[in-house]
Amino acid sequence: MMPLKTIDDQKSLNDLLEKVKSYRPQADLELIKKAYSFARQAHGGQLRFNGNPFFKHPLKTAKTLVELRVDEKAIAAALLHDVCEDTQTSLKVIQKMFGKEVAFLVEGVTKLTDLKFQLGKEDYLVENLRRMILAMAKDIRVLLIKLADRLNNLETLEALPLEKQKTIAQETLEIYAPLAQRLGMGGMKGVLEDLAFPYVYPKEHTWVKLYSRPRYREMEDYLKRVKRVVNKALDKAGVEAEIHARGKHLFSLYKKLLVKDKNLDKIYDLVAMRVIVKTVEECYTVLGIIHKMWKPLLAMVKDYIALPKPNGYRSLHTTVFCLDGRIVEFQIRTRQMHAEAENGIAAHWYYSEQKAKGKSEKELKAGFKVPLDAFSWVKRLSSWQKEIGDNSEFLEDLKIDAFSDRIFVLTPKGEVVDLPDNSTPVDFAYAIHTEIGDSCVGAKVNGKLVELSHHLQNQDIVEILTSKQQKKPKHDWLKFVVTTHAKGAVRKALKESD
Ligand code: MN
Repeated sequence: MMPLKTIDDQKSLNDLLEKVKSYRPQADLELIKKAYSFARQAHGGQLRFNGNPFFKHPLKTAKTLVELRVDEKAIAAALLHDVCEDTQTSLKVIQKMFGKEVAFLVEGVTKLTDLKFQLGKEDYLVENLRRMILAMAKDIRVLLIKLADRLNNLETLEALPLEKQKTIAQETLEIYAPLAQRLGMGGMKGVLEDLAFPYVYPKEHTWVKLYSRPRYREMEDYLKRVKRVVNKALDKAGVEAEIHARGKHLFSLYKKLLVKDKNLDKIYDLVAMRVIVKTVEECYTVLGIIHKMWKPLLAMVKDYIALPKPNGYRSLHTTVFCLDGRIVEFQIRTRQMHAEAENGIAAHWYYSEQKAKGKSEKELKAGFKVPLDAFSWVKRLSSWQKEIGDNSEFLEDLKIDAFSDRIFVLTPKGEVVDLPDNSTPVDFAYAIHTEIGDSCVGAKVNGKLVELSHHLQNQDIVEILTSKQQKKPKHDWLKFVVTTHAKGAVRKALKESD
């Protein structure tokens, strides 16, 4: 057996347990201990391709999940996630030792891993995406483990052959990072992208790094001054706040530079100031204080608290002419909003579980509401898939639907509907209800009649006009609708009339 001196088991395990206890006092720590020693033994002297003991990998995966504050079952499953694939252990044994739920999670992750490079590239991506969406519709923890697993694989990517590096990094940019984004996991998305960036675009990575570094340094001192001024003003108003400057992730900076003529001067959020306070009221107080000191660029004041982004993101954003007339972005949010912005669905999951504790089934159904927008999106996708069947057209649509930029528009009653960019009133109608889509004959946007092929904009108020005479969608709608649901419905109706 290989010496395993690079892992201090006692310390690693204690660290895990301490952290879990801190956010989850009722956790079954025995389960984690058992999973730790079982996985440790099962992987034995196995080495990873970089020469490290293999167990470092599941351990790091589990640590990432602890940061996301998931429950002990998911952490146990993370420790065990490569046991079935890479050792002699069967799923049956896992189930016997750790129970059905842990076994289900391990199986879910293993199934996603199975898929490796079996299909042609495009098919592979779409199939992979489909599997992930189905897996997470069943249990979001499967996907959280998979994302944490991928994160550590990227951290150790250097040791792999060049071709493989590129494939894994590319797949991360095409599937994993957008999924993390769609689930509101801003922190995970940023880290995944930045890790994959140099493997997929080595030259561009070097360029943007060298180009932005001096500017970041120079901003540092300036923002310290800004921070002092803001701190003083908030003190005076009696608002307790935590303020820090946050640099943009390198890959998202690169993408932004591409649309801004590669000119750093045109990027206002290179570094954003984050102000974190206790209550929603204080968020607005802080906004007022900042606007009183510095004039905002009006078009850039955004209230994502009143109107959260489709992935659940909440915050106040404002961009102001700050000290010395320089343009600076502020993001103002509560602590919970901050956790949700970084960890998205994982945070929702955590908070909803906390809130659900001690409530009866009936209470939960009656009044228990969590902003699980991202989650409902997942459920919707998987239910449409059942409706429409397992065909490649659907999967292509799915990819567009899932990964394009999103807008949110409103019904006349103020309900928010989440749609991909370039959606039309017909997409909106189908998002409300299939029957409304089928019988839709016209639409008003912000009170004015528009064509059915009209492109909706963020925050439009959309009213659909229907007719009882029309029971089927028109086939030429296919030329302009963009959502999976609308396309599927039109195609289905056309097939039936054949
Ligand atoms: Mn793994």
